[in-house]
Amino acid sequence: MEGGIYTREKCSVCGKTLRHDGGKHGCFCPDHSKIGARTFIVKFPPNLYQTFTQYEKASQSLNYLRHEKGTRKQRFNPDDYKSIKPNSFAALKDKYLARKTDKASYRVICQIINRANETLGYINVREITGADIEDYLVGIAGISEKTRFNHMTQLRNFWKWCLKRGNIITLAEMPSFPDIDYTLGYRKITDWETQEKVLNKLKEITSHNPKIWFGIDMLATYTSLRPDDLRRLREESLDTNGWLTIYNPTKKKNKFKTIRLHPDHVALWRQYQEKYPAVPTMPFFRHAPGIKNCKPDKLFNRKYLYAWWNNAAEEIGLKGVPLYPGTKHTTATETAKLLGADKAKVASGLTNKAFDRYCQVEGDGSYEVITAIRTKKKAEVIQLFRSAKGIE
Ligand SMILES: [Zn+2]
Repeated sequence: MEGGIYTREKCSVCGKTLRHDGGKHGCFCPDHSKIGARTFIVKFPPNLYQTFTQYEKASQSLNYLRHEKGTRKQRFNPDDYKSIKPNSFAALKDKYLARKTDKASYRVICQIINRANETLGYINVREITGADIEDYLVGIAGISEKTRFNHMTQLRNFWKWCLKRGNIITLAEMPSFPDIDYTLGYRKITDWETQEKVLNKLKEITSHNPKIWFGIDMLATYTSLRPDDLRRLREESLDTNGWLTIYNPTKKKNKFKTIRLHPDHVALWRQYQEKYPAVPTMPFFRHAPGIKNCKPDKLFNRKYLYAWWNNAAEEIGLKGVPLYPGTKHTTATETAKLLGADKAKVASGLTNKAFDRYCQVEGDGSYEVITAIRTKKKAEVIQLFRSAKGIE
C-alpha cells in the first residue's frame, strides 16, 4: 500500500526514531514501547506531506488518500490534498470565521466549524459531498438532535458563503445537506389555562417583589422577548408611547429590538416606577429592598425567573415545563390555535421551520394579535377560574 505514517520525534531514552505501529495506533520506540510520538506526518508519494497532532486524524487522512488514489487513478493529483491547499476547508474556514466576529453566536460558530475542520479540513471544499457531510454529522456522538441540526445549519451557511465568494464551488457542486429531524427535541409545553394558573400562583408567592411576576407575564405575552432581554431593560427603556427598546438582544449584537407594550403592562411599569424609584439607567428587573440574601437594586441573575417559575409551577402541580416552554412556546402555540397558524405566521415573519417551533410575534403588526390574545385569554381564564373555584 502506498504512503505511510511517520514522525520526526525520537525516543527520549535511547534517541532512536519512533516507528509507526498501526496495531498500537501511534509511533513508538522499538525498544521502549511506552515512549510515543505526539506529532504525526502522513507521507504519500510522490511529494505529499501532512502533519497531524492526533494519530486518528493522520490515519483517516492516509486511508482517504489511498481511497482517492484507488478511485481516481491517473487523475489523482497530490497537490489537491496538501493541507494548505487554498480551497480546502481548513484554508477557507478562518476567512469565513473572520466574517462572523460580530455575531453574538460567534463562539458557537467557531466551535462547530473547527470541529468539522478536524474531519474535513484537508479536503478541497469542492470534493466534500453531501454523503461526507452526513457521515460527519451522524458520527458526532453524545449530542442532541437539535444540536446536530445546528451543526448542519452552520455547515450549510459555510457552504453558502463559499458559493457566494465564487471560484470555490459552483451551484451544481453545492452538496445536499441531510435532513435532521429533531422532532424529539421539541419541549413539553402547557396550555393557557395552566400558564395562567402558574402566573396567578407566582403573583401570590412573590408579593415581596411584583416584578418577578411582571417579567414572567411579559414573557408569556410578547413571544419575541427572550428571558435575557428582560435583564437588559432599564428604567428608561419604556418611552412615552408605550414602546420598549431593548439594546443588544440575545441573538443580535449591536442591534436593538422594540416591543409595543399592551396598556395594562404600561400602567404596571409606571406603577412600579413610582413604587421603586430609581435613576433612568438602573436595571428595571432588580431586587427590591429588604429581601433576605438579595442585595437591593441588584439585577436579577440569569436563573432568578427560572427558579421562581419552577416554584410556582410545582405548587400548582405542573411538572417538566420550565420557564421558556411554559411562557413563550406555550403562548406561540396557543396563538396559532386561536388565530390560525397562517395569521400567526404572517405576524411572526418567520420561516416555516422556525415557526413550527414557536411563533415569534414582533413589530407593530403583532400588536393586534397580542390584543386579541390577551382579551381572549383573560376572558376565558377568568371564566374557568370562576367556575372552578366558585368565587366572585
Ligand atoms: Zn528508546
